[in-house]
Amino acid sequence: MIVAELKLYDEIKSYLEGCSSVLVAGCGSCTSICHSGGLRETESVASWLRSDTGMKVRSIIIERQCDNEFVAEIEHVLSGVDAVLSLGCGAGVQMIAEMYQGIRVYPGLNTKFVGTTHDRGIFIERCRSCGNCKLGSTAGICPLTRCAKGLQNGPCGGSENGMCETGDGRECAWCLIIERMKAQGRLDELYRFTEPVIWSGQVPGRYNWGIGVK
Ligand code: SF4
Ligand code: SF4
Repeated sequence: MIVAELKLYDEIKSYLEGCSSVLVAGCGSCTSICHSGGLRETESVASWLRSDTGMKVRSIIIERQCDNEFVAEIEHVLSGVDAVLSLGCGAGVQMIAEMYQGIRVYPGLNTKFVGTTHDRGIFIERCRSCGNCKLGSTAGICPLTRCAKGLQNGPCGGSENGMCETGDGRECAWCLIIERMKAQGRLDELYRFTEPVIWSGQVPGRYNWGIGVK
């Protein structure tokens, strides 16, 4: 899922200065799951704004803000609205802004990473969307994301008792990979060289032209 967190209220409020009618739009997908843009958060933000600013504030949940079919469904509630405050990820904000270009659209969240649920309300980064997934050769553990140095061809040698030498509390990704490969009888596969990541292909967005699914 895409993990995002709510912006500070003062920043949100500053975007909306001068508006008299605002729609707070939550997202029923990723940001609901990570508790930043679901029904409860959307209602809370709408309620803060109502009580603090005196603006007319309505709220809605869009099933998936990154999907034009679902975003098209909010057209009927946009009449008279000065601005939309999106509680979707950055892709959701852009989808709404693209479809309703006459209305100001503001982000209510900071989009952080692609991750998994670690514990109730705790999410961890697991993928950097590198565009060339190598998990098949690392037993399903991403060294690009989980190794502090993003090493692709084995450990740096600095780990101690399975922990990364950075001391930031993370397990050494390569210790984990080696242990899992060993358990699967695949250690010999680690002698295969992995080409370095081509970082220049990462910025700006690589898939502006889209990816087709047949
Ligand atoms: S190799 Fe890592 S960063 Fe790249 S797509 Fe796979 S999980 Fe994501
Ligand atoms: S100790 Fe392990 S996780 Fe940390 S930088 Fe070295 S190889 Fe990467």
